[in-house]
Amino acid sequence: MSPLDGYFCATCKQFHSGLPTSYAADFPDSYASIDEKEREQRALIGSDQCIVDNEMYFIRGLVEVPIIGFQEFFLWGLWASIWKEAYGEINEHWQTNGRENLIGPYKGRLNNELREYSQSTLNLKCTIRIQPLGARPLFFIDEPGHPLAIEQRDGISLERVQQIASALMHKNT
Ligand SMILES: [Zn+2]
Repeated sequence: MSPLDGYFCATCKQFHSGLPTSYAADFPDSYASIDEKEREQRALIGSDQCIVDNEMYFIRGLVEVPIIGFQEFFLWGLWASIWKEAYGEINEHWQTNGRENLIGPYKGRLNNELREYSQSTLNLKCTIRIQPLGARPLFFIDEPGHPLAIEQRDGISLERVQQIASALMHKNT
């Protein structure tokens, strides 16, 4: 059996089959914090793009973290705030073949708080690299001393993946 087939959960002490290696935030925190009744009026949101109050611009991307000893990456699906000009340019080239060579990289800041880190991830500086059509942009953390940047650089152990799974599996229970 591969370790990715399942794990003993630190939270509920049960065996869960399947070890998730990716998590996604549905919204930027700046959107999620808007009262639900006001969202429609104040924000535009799609699967990969979001605008709040006509002045905050967000795109969705991935932070890839190597899993030590495995081929596959652990993935955080997150949102980053970017400048209006960058947002416009990305939007303009959304369907352009070879866009990864035409535009970017861009500077952004993460707009999701991840409780799985000892330091806040909100507003963490990152570089955004555009990927070929059909693939989400990749975020590279620019603050080298931050635990997320260290994990992105050095990789994480399988135990760490299990620890994150144990925490997130029961987040809403
Ligand atoms: Zn559990």
